[in-house]
Amino acid sequence: MLRIALQSKGRLNEKSLELLRESGISIEENSRRLLSKSSNFPMEVLYLRDDDIPQTVSCGIADLGIVGFNEVMERNYSVEVLKHLEFGKCRLSLAVPKYLDYAGPEFFNGKKVATSYPGILKSYFKEKGISCEIREIAGSVEISPSIGLADGIFDIVSSGGTLVQNGLAEVEVVMESDAVLIAAPGLDEEKRQIAETLMSRFTSVLRSRGKKYILVNVPNEKIDEALQIIPSMKSPTLLPLADKGWSAIHAVVDESEVWDKADRLKKIGAEDIVVLSMEKLII
Ligand code: ATP
Ligand code: MG
Repeated sequence: MLRIALQSKGRLNEKSLELLRESGISIEENSRRLLSKSSNFPMEVLYLRDDDIPQTVSCGIADLGIVGFNEVMERNYSVEVLKHLEFGKCRLSLAVPKYLDYAGPEFFNGKKVATSYPGILKSYFKEKGISCEIREIAGSVEISPSIGLADGIFDIVSSGGTLVQNGLAEVEVVMESDAVLIAAPGLDEEKRQIAETLMSRFTSVLRSRGKKYILVNVPNEKIDEALQIIPSMKSPTLLPLADKGWSAIHAVVDESEVWDKADRLKKIGAEDIVVLSMEKLII
């Protein structure tokens, strides 16, 4: 039995549960409970504030956790990052009032910066040889310059809308973050095997996201050209049609490229292009 720590509510909660669900793992739903079991996988879920997840995993109270990479870097507990999960994407950036002239990180020498991420910021300034006073605050970081608490801020940015609303300009991106799967150091053999099964299911789910399955009929003399347009993962799936001189090609393509590829296939004489949703890509 493996225990995984997830954020109890907030930005990563729903996407973490969705990843488990798409990986075929059913979790009893009861939002008021701290712990819930899976009915079909040897795992239970522990719901926590995201701040507490790295420590809980590092001391082995939970074997695994899903948390923002930014929290892992900030807390600096000893945990193993097993996999980047490609959701909860954001960046940690320095921002200053937009009317200021900003020429580079030296700007921050002798200044004050407000943040909820003092650890990451301290390492950044140390690496750049900059001496700056860091003022740690728990929330509403973006209003610090306007109330005179700091000259600039260091905070999470995703669209940048909050910065603009507060008259701030993003001047340095210090790190990029997404949700990560972390593990306690030294899992025993049984737990490691469950964790590996889980990771390979996650990999399959993430690989199939944004992908479509395409079936297309092409004249045999156009097969090579068609395969330039829709390269296959291994060797192409080619099926002869009853109509001699024609074949069907099956391939997996990025959703964003489906229309472009379909147009190009039609131009070389392909017909009957069928595009299907892809649920899993298990390799
Ligand atoms: P908790 O109550 O669990 O402590 P929180 O309020 O600290 O939650 P959330 O705002 O739910 O945290 O954010 C969780 C994580 O989501 C962040 O640590 C970050 O990795 C990621 N994230 C992605 N985009 C954003 C964003 N625009 N603002 C804040 N966090 C974001
Ligand atoms: Mg938090």
